[in-house]
Amino acid sequence: MKEIIDAILSGNATSEDFSALRIPESYRGSVVRKEDVGIFEGMESAHKDPRKSLHVEVVPTPEPGPGEALVAVMASSVNFNSVWSSIFEPLPTFGFLQRYGRLNRLARRHDLPYHVIGSDLAGVVLRVGSGVNAWKAGDRVVAHCLSVELEKAEGHDDTMLDPEQRIWGFETNFGGLAELALVKSNQLMPKPDHLSWEEAASPGLVNSTAYRQLVSRNGAGMKQGDNVLIWGASGGLGSYATQLTLAGGATPICVVSSGNKAEVCRAMGAELVIDRAAEGYRFWKDEHTQDPKEWRRLGGHIRELTGGEDVDIVLEHPGRETFGASVYVARKGGTIVTCASTSGYRHEYDNRYLWMSLKRIVGSHFANYREAWEANRLVVKGRIHPTLSRVYALEDTGQAVYDVHHNLHQGKVGVLCLAPQEGLGIADEELRAQHIDAIKRFRVPKS
Ligand code: NAP
Repeated sequence: MKEIIDAILSGNATSEDFSALRIPESYRGSVVRKEDVGIFEGMESAHKDPRKSLHVEVVPTPEPGPGEALVAVMASSVNFNSVWSSIFEPLPTFGFLQRYGRLNRLARRHDLPYHVIGSDLAGVVLRVGSGVNAWKAGDRVVAHCLSVELEKAEGHDDTMLDPEQRIWGFETNFGGLAELALVKSNQLMPKPDHLSWEEAASPGLVNSTAYRQLVSRNGAGMKQGDNVLIWGASGGLGSYATQLTLAGGATPICVVSSGNKAEVCRAMGAELVIDRAAEGYRFWKDEHTQDPKEWRRLGGHIRELTGGEDVDIVLEHPGRETFGASVYVARKGGTIVTCASTSGYRHEYDNRYLWMSLKRIVGSHFANYREAWEANRLVVKGRIHPTLSRVYALEDTGQAVYDVHHNLHQGKVGVLCLAPQEGLGIADEELRAQHIDAIKRFRVPKS
């Protein structure tokens, strides 16, 4: 691995130099093991500890097949799907790998008793498989996490609708929390030159998801002047949703759970912030009963902040705990766009507020190829900035995922894979200098 790291750090190795490098037969990756699937049985989710189920292990290097690329991963980031993988909820990911493995000979390689997880990366292409023309060894890249086959018509307009759609590093093996990763070459996108490896690795999954949810016509189709209620606005999805809202000429109303998190939102330029902990919102009186008074209190609070307006869009992901409130506070004709159910997937809401007020609930999941590309383009141009807080070493992935599981983090949590330290990999100092104030401002203080 040392030769690869040296070539990358030298900054002047050519594509031929990279092609001549020997590919190691094995590499270190963060894995969950099939044999561990039962270790948390009977425990509450909160007590399932990713530090016990995530192991950094040496695993064999996969050979890139047709249309694939092997990437040296300099840095990666933690997404909430790494939490789900590591606590084996809602299902152990080995079932996904097994199903994928039944597809064809190439996919069969993914069905293993270990799962290298992780759905973001920034790094350098080492090898490409046959039929790959747009990328070559030595290219500096990030990868989005949409894996599709595109053999059926359903996915031809919107690649997320492909019947064989999977999230790389969650529903496929050889993910990004590792020294090497295997991707389909059409997941690759240019690395933003003005960012370090760990900065570049952090927006991918959440920025693309927030882009589809808010900006794309497949999501809420946000327009200038819209009011957008953003739950968890300093978190992974939320910190990019807040930026996309501001960049699109709309107004975010950021909901967070502490004064520090409110500061993170203000640093991004948001003016309207609700601290849900300080306000003491309790949308459920007990496990089975919601409290519409609390929905109305939130609606009143929003109107106070906006000068009497309701929200055009609600960016939903907490799920059961907040969904009733989200449906209530959306304006007449407004959109609730949901991509997750962190607090529970059996949502309850009062349907009278939906149909009588002609609101829409839109389901959204990651982003199609083009949406992921557009979201990355905004980062490349310095319109959207990384919101990175703590950065861990690969050995400490378990702790990094634990932090996200317990909501101890802010923004994104990074992981250094082959990069020996933070701050490396910046190729365009001039562009960085142009955006340095924002880059510093958006770099979230370590919580
Ligand atoms: P994150 O970084 O942990 O941020 C989520 C934030 O939501 C938390 O920081 C918290 O902020 C807020 N939150 C959590 N529980 C809440 C509750 N019960 N009520 C109100 N707010 C709550 O995670 P993320 O990366 O943003 O992901 C959020 C969810 O979206 C996860 O379930 C993830 O799996 C899902 N997701 C789905 C997709 C997709 O493609 N479908 C993509 C990305 C993420 P405060 O404590 O400050 O309020």
